[in-house]
Amino acid sequence: MNNIDFKDLSARISNPQSLTCPFCFNQLKEPMQINSIKTKRSYYMNCSICGKIQLDSSLKNSISNALSSKHQGYIDDDSFKDDTLEYHKLLFNHLYIVASYFYERKNKDEFIPIDKDRFIKIIKKIDLPITLLQKRDKLLLNIYDITEYFGKTVEIDKNGAYLCYAKNTTEYLSILEHCIDDKLFKKTDNSLLQNLYLEKETKFFEIKWTQKGYSKIEDIIKKQKTKITNNAFVVMKLDGEKGKYQTFYESNIIPAIKEAGYNPLPIIEKSTNESLITEIMNEIRKSAFVVVIMADHYPELNRDDVKNKKVHDSNYNIYWEAGFAKGCNKEVFLLYPESVYNEVHIPFDLSGFRHYPYDDSVNQIYIKQEKFVRLLSSSIVDILGTGKAKY
Ligand SMILES: [Zn+2]
Repeated sequence: MNNIDFKDLSARISNPQSLTCPFCFNQLKEPMQINSIKTKRSYYMNCSICGKIQLDSSLKNSISNALSSKHQGYIDDDSFKDDTLEYHKLLFNHLYIVASYFYERKNKDEFIPIDKDRFIKIIKKIDLPITLLQKRDKLLLNIYDITEYFGKTVEIDKNGAYLCYAKNTTEYLSILEHCIDDKLFKKTDNSLLQNLYLEKETKFFEIKWTQKGYSKIEDIIKKQKTKITNNAFVVMKLDGEKGKYQTFYESNIIPAIKEAGYNPLPIIEKSTNESLITEIMNEIRKSAFVVVIMADHYPELNRDDVKNKKVHDSNYNIYWEAGFAKGCNKEVFLLYPESVYNEVHIPFDLSGFRHYPYDDSVNQIYIKQEKFVRLLSSSIVDILGTGKAKY
């Protein structure tokens, strides 16, 4: 398996009806289908590892070219003069990493488009496993996912670099070996026999988890549970099912958060209930960011009274959550009603928050404010990157 014939792979992938996945090199379920929309040509493919993919034709050609030029160091075809050697190297070194990303996505039955830009975006994602231990944890998790029960032999793909974001098969096998050396799992007798006599005929290693491996995986899962999610915690004072702030939340805040790729959590009504407060704190800790919606619940009141603190501030409760979120180092997006933008009394320094005024006039608060939704969602993406929540 270490001696992959890249020239042969390149030739297979360059075939318009290729049966080889250009990311994980597995056999496709059916030959690629070409489709052209205007000047853009794409190949539709279905890989048992990567799922359904709509592959841009120039990326497909570049991959095939990168594989064939690997050992030659030059690009021999005029039609790819835009492909630099650097680009080829980048493709060559990240095919399995993109395959890992595809392998882990939730909905493999939907065609996911990929071209050069998207390829680069995927490999630059900040949360990809990079270190040996991160890759090992990923491998353990992915093997755990295909384990039926403790004690059962598990078949692991020999060409399984996509299981752990490895750059190539050599790295994958080293990580696997590391796990075996560390006695997290063991090769079964059966696979020893295969190694001796049948190595070339089998596509799998057979392994069994050890007790040590199982307690390791439990640790990793526990760690994951407290990991930052794609959730967005929203803080606001509710005003009933058809209330204007509830409507504003549904028609503006939910779409803005979803557009940025995050998952808006349902609002938890604050109370003095101890377990509810703990829940709020936990949710804030795990959230990617927090959106705080300041409301003007007394629009009929005299502004001077509001300014002079004569009116009980109905936003009081949510300051606590905003402060807690800030204390947890969360990015806090603070939304103000425009009408009182400069007038609302604020009890503590909010200069560290990002402020976004929204239109709270009667004819705007009940509808989707396109410009506001765009501004909020693009700010979230600018600051935190696109989330991975799927809809
Ligand atoms: Zn694949």
